[in-house]
Amino acid sequence: MTASLVIDDDRLLDLLAPDAVAVRLGGDATWSEGALYLPDQDAVIWSDIPGNRILRWSAADGRVTVDQVGVEFTNGRTLDLAGRVVECSHGRRAVQRREADGALTVLVDRWGAARLNSPNDVVVKSDGTIWFTDPSYGITQPAEGYPGEREYGDHWVFRFDPADGGLTPVVLDVEDPNGLAFSPDESLLYVSDTSASLAPPGVGNHHIRVYDVVGGRHCTNGRVFAEVSPGVADGFRVDVAGNVWTSSHDSVQIFAPDGARLGKIPVPEMVANVCFGGPDRSTLFIAASSGLYRVPTRTRGASPLDLVGVRP
Ligand code: MG
Repeated sequence: MTASLVIDDDRLLDLLAPDAVAVRLGGDATWSEGALYLPDQDAVIWSDIPGNRILRWSAADGRVTVDQVGVEFTNGRTLDLAGRVVECSHGRRAVQRREADGALTVLVDRWGAARLNSPNDVVVKSDGTIWFTDPSYGITQPAEGYPGEREYGDHWVFRFDPADGGLTPVVLDVEDPNGLAFSPDESLLYVSDTSASLAPPGVGNHHIRVYDVVGGRHCTNGRVFAEVSPGVADGFRVDVAGNVWTSSHDSVQIFAPDGARLGKIPVPEMVANVCFGGPDRSTLFIAASSGLYRVPTRTRGASPLDLVGVRP
């Protein structure tokens, strides 16, 4: 039996029914991340990183199946403005795109002459640019990729423009950048620091930072948005009102735009990533250790498509 909601602030009840619980949908993964809802299939795919597989849950029959094997250790993923899957690959040290015919296109795998570390999570902005984190877990954790060197010597967040191939570092001051997401109007970029995850107790960070996005392309004024405990904010997404729904070790935690924690949804396995989905984008899907969970919400996930044609 899954535990009931923890309510820290009554604003949580605008977002979730008081009896909302996370229900397990299935899965036999070693470690789950990178959940993505596919609107055209009413299905969710996610990464079993150590299993080097992609799993799939389909709403049509409620079953979990193996979507693909031998996938070069994919991690986070999202949809671009054309509905194509854009995803991170530890094994290729790249951000790649799945074309309509199933072919893979490596979009970016180098910063100058140096290979990227192991792109971890990715979001697409309403101008079509692709923003991703590049920590080194996929080259330091043998189960999550291939051992390798940090060729540019750091861990950055990058902005990639598929229109011209330009790659620009945008956040340089996060020790281990991992999850990322924009606010609904894209004026803010949230980036988590998960440097505490493999460190001894008391060492490293377990917070989400927030940056002002200037001119749609630069990040300034970085500051801590929220401390996440227990565990780290491996992955998170933002709803249409700007609330941040993040992983932690024991739950999904929800933070208001002012940084106040509104409460949490207990999950019986360690949570890694979340995504909004369902036909109306109101279902929260949760990638947690061995499998996928679902909880209905009273809100909807923010989408860059909501801004296309709205912003100049
Ligand atoms: Mg991650």
